[in-house]
Amino acid sequence: MPTDSNRASLSAPDSVLHALLGAVFSGFAHPVIIKDAQLRFVHVNAPACAMLGRAAPELLGRTDDAIVPAAQAARIAAVDREILASGEPRAFEEAITTPDGEARHLLTHKHRIAPPGAREPLILTMITDVTELRHAERRQRHSEAHYRALVDLLPQVVWVADARGQVTEIGPTWSRLSGRAAEAAYGSGWESAVHAQDLPRVRRQWRTSVTSGAPLDVQCRVRAADGTFRWVRNRAAARRDARGRIVAWHGLLEDIHERKRAELALRESEALVRSIVESTPDGIQLLDAEGELLLVNPAGRRLFGAPTAADGQGRRWDRVLAPGDLAKGARALAQVRAGRVARFEAYVTPRERPGLCMDIIAAPVPGADGKPARTLTIWRDISGAKAARDATEAARRAAEAAAAKLAAVLENTLDCVVVLDREWRLSYMNANARRLLSLGNEAIGQSLWTLYPQEQNGVFADHYRKALATHLPVTFEEYLPALSRWLEVHAAPTDEGLSIFFRDTSERRRAEQERFQAQAQVFHMSRHDALTTLPNRVLLRERLERGLAELEPGAHLSVLTLDLDAFKPVNDTYGHPVGDMLLRHIADRLNGCVREEDTVARVGGDEFVVLTRHGGAAAEAPALAARLIDALQRPFDLDGVSVEISACAGIALAPDDGTRVEALLRASDVALYRAKAQGRGTCLRYVPGMDTPLLARQAMKVALKGAIARDELELFFQPLVDLSSKRVSACEALLRWRQADAGLVSPADFIPLAEESGLIHAIGQWVLRGACQEAVRWTDDIAVAVNLSPLQFRDENLVAVVAQALTDAGLAAARLQLEITESVMLDESAANLRTLQALRRLGVKIVMDDFGTGYSSFGYLRRFPFDKIKVDRGFINDLPHGRESLAVVRAVAGIGRSLGITTVVEGVETQAQLEVVSAEGFDEGQGYLFSGPVPAAQVPALLHRLTRRPPEAGPGTANETPQ
Ligand code: C2E
Ligand code: CA
Ligand code: CA
Repeated sequence: MPTDSNRASLSAPDSVLHALLGAVFSGFAHPVIIKDAQLRFVHVNAPACAMLGRAAPELLGRTDDAIVPAAQAARIAAVDREILASGEPRAFEEAITTPDGEARHLLTHKHRIAPPGAREPLILTMITDVTELRHAERRQRHSEAHYRALVDLLPQVVWVADARGQVTEIGPTWSRLSGRAAEAAYGSGWESAVHAQDLPRVRRQWRTSVTSGAPLDVQCRVRAADGTFRWVRNRAAARRDARGRIVAWHGLLEDIHERKRAELALRESEALVRSIVESTPDGIQLLDAEGELLLVNPAGRRLFGAPTAADGQGRRWDRVLAPGDLAKGARALAQVRAGRVARFEAYVTPRERPGLCMDIIAAPVPGADGKPARTLTIWRDISGAKAARDATEAARRAAEAAAAKLAAVLENTLDCVVVLDREWRLSYMNANARRLLSLGNEAIGQSLWTLYPQEQNGVFADHYRKALATHLPVTFEEYLPALSRWLEVHAAPTDEGLSIFFRDTSERRRAEQERFQAQAQVFHMSRHDALTTLPNRVLLRERLERGLAELEPGAHLSVLTLDLDAFKPVNDTYGHPVGDMLLRHIADRLNGCVREEDTVARVGGDEFVVLTRHGGAAAEAPALAARLIDALQRPFDLDGVSVEISACAGIALAPDDGTRVEALLRASDVALYRAKAQGRGTCLRYVPGMDTPLLARQAMKVALKGAIARDELELFFQPLVDLSSKRVSACEALLRWRQADAGLVSPADFIPLAEESGLIHAIGQWVLRGACQEAVRWTDDIAVAVNLSPLQFRDENLVAVVAQALTDAGLAAARLQLEITESVMLDESAANLRTLQALRRLGVKIVMDDFGTGYSSFGYLRRFPFDKIKVDRGFINDLPHGRESLAVVRAVAGIGRSLGITTVVEGVETQAQLEVVSAEGFDEGQGYLFSGPVPAAQVPALLHRLTRRPPEAGPGTANETPQ
């Protein structure tokens, strides 16, 4: 901001100088500003004041900060200081906005001046307002651009030539039209684009114009960018100066190709029409609106004579019509006047040839306004045809009567009937044929091959041609693609052509086909597994039979039986749909491992048989088995569930292991059975004698069946001891089978057989009843424990059986303990849980036996509130040193404590083991250390002894000998 002290510091000589300068510039029309070295205004003339919108006193002594925005003032000051420092003058143009908001262009000149006598240099600023000038310039530029754009958009080519006819400028449209650069057309360069035939004419005319000054108007062909020639019209006019001398030519070249083409086409068609009119044998007249003759063609002149103006009749168009037909003519003309075409037959009486019959067409010819202005008539002589028509009329009527009779017959037949003439034209169709072929009257007279072009070389055509060639009828049944139908056809050649009788047999065939397919389906189903579509046991046997019959000497046939190791848990865990999917995947993998000619069959839930023929080496079979087992061991992705399984295999080879179907399947099965006994993923080949244990098992099963009846089953009891009181709390019933010749059989050996054969239900019931009946003989504080097989849970009467056993024995339910294993919780767990709850409601105690041998034992404890957990003896076996076993034992003790479940250990054989489990806090113990299982009869004595004698004394003498 300027200050008053600044203003006051002007020295006297300077102020004189400034006043002087002010006087010099005050007369200037343009703004002039003078500043001192401190950039203060020392002189501002009137135009400058006007420009800045301030009076001089407001400005003098101040700097730019006082009048313009700070940023702008700083910019001006910077320039001023630079000029002061360098002494270089500056000129620049800037756009400013005046105080009243107007935009102006200012051209500013700044100089440093140092007037003689001045102490400091000054800055002289002279400003010219060039706003108007710039606006004018812009308008000019604008209109030029506008003109250029117009020229660019113009479909015509604008060109300019000098007075001598040399082209000096040509519009951009030329390049688009000719595909050549504009410069190439300069001078007489354009000539190379003109068609050679037209060029001489174009040159001549241009030269004439240039010399005479007459305007140019010429049409010629120009080679277009695509190489074709296009018609153009080129016009030019001279521009002259004030003295009338030509200074330039302004030309316009226009593409008239389409117009020209239409013109030529019109000319051609005119010529064509003329030649037709001249040469046709039909008479042609052109009449005016009143029906007066305007024009007659040569044929017409021959018919009616030339129109003559002489007699009044001479120009009448209808003067040749027979008097009886004149009315027809008048009607026709009226119709034409209404804009319609009329046609009629009439007799005419021309000069030399009376009695002609004519077919006459009269048509309106539209005038410029589109309304009928004239009439065209065409006269055709049909006398010959008419006579013939009349002559055949009678014969036709007779034939029609006969045909009508035949038609009645044909129409009523169930068949379709079609009659063809020798040119394949349809001359007759009955109603059935019309319906089946979807044809109407319009088809009569048309060629069969016009109607069905695609059948012209088809099998139907072959048959018809054969019938025509041999003159013998043909009968056939074929598929007609055109109709998508099966037709049974009888075609008989006649004098006229071919009579075709046919019927649609599609339905019948479809029914036959369906029946056949159904049979095939049944046949297939009876030989294939529905789930995997693999061959089933029936087809396997057939194939095996055939394979054995065709077996060549030295060759082998291998029967490979595969059994999945853990299919059931997959089914149980993920559900049957996933199980089914797994089986289908397995089928695919197995098929992927064998050759086309091999057979992969599904013969049971999770059992497959692979039938393969081997050349020489019998060793191929085990290798294949290994591949198959390997393939099944890779994880399966079943809709996002990854499932792993494994399989065992048994191999039997023909002829070595048998030559009959039955023997081979059995041998393979035996080998599989043995393989499974060895564990997952095992494969074994059958060897003789392999089935001995199996046979023994089989014999045992048979023997077990009669065991109850023969009274061979016995119950032993083993005590459970309360570890704190050292008293017997319960006795577990353990089953024994005393076989006449084999002595005592372990339940571990025969319970599985009983489970396999279903005997387990009868046996289980027998044990329950027996155990309860024994227990009532003991003191009230001793419970009885009974083992339940998981299979017993499939018996829906289990709860009733237990209740009945208690009632019959008169035993309190609270004294019965049922020992179950984890698999009860696994198999159909929902139903089994309900059974367990029902048992519990009886008042019976439920014990989880063999705890720790399954997968997720602790989970079960949450799903059912067991009364007791019995840790499997496998863990006790390891004690006192087994670390992992100790961990399990400790965990169970902890859970028991926290859930309030009684905990038991079984298999306690040593004092050391007893000490460990006692220390861990187990409630009860069972094992040889206390007593082995003893016959029922010995239980009272045992109880007496155990109560009397503490267990520290060692195992009792009456014990069953431990194995
Ligand atoms: P379990 O329920 O675990 O029965 C205990 C088995 O351990 C009995 O074998 C018993 O003789 C044996 N044992 C007892 N103390 C000791 C010991 O200190 N050390 C050793 N190493 N073993 C000991 P057993 O009687 O041969 O029974 C075997 C399995 O047969 C039983 O195992 C049970 O699962 C089943 N079983 C026995 N009786 C029946 C029955 O009536 N019904 C059903 N369904 N299964 C039964
Ligand atoms: Ca048990
Ligand atoms: Ca057990």
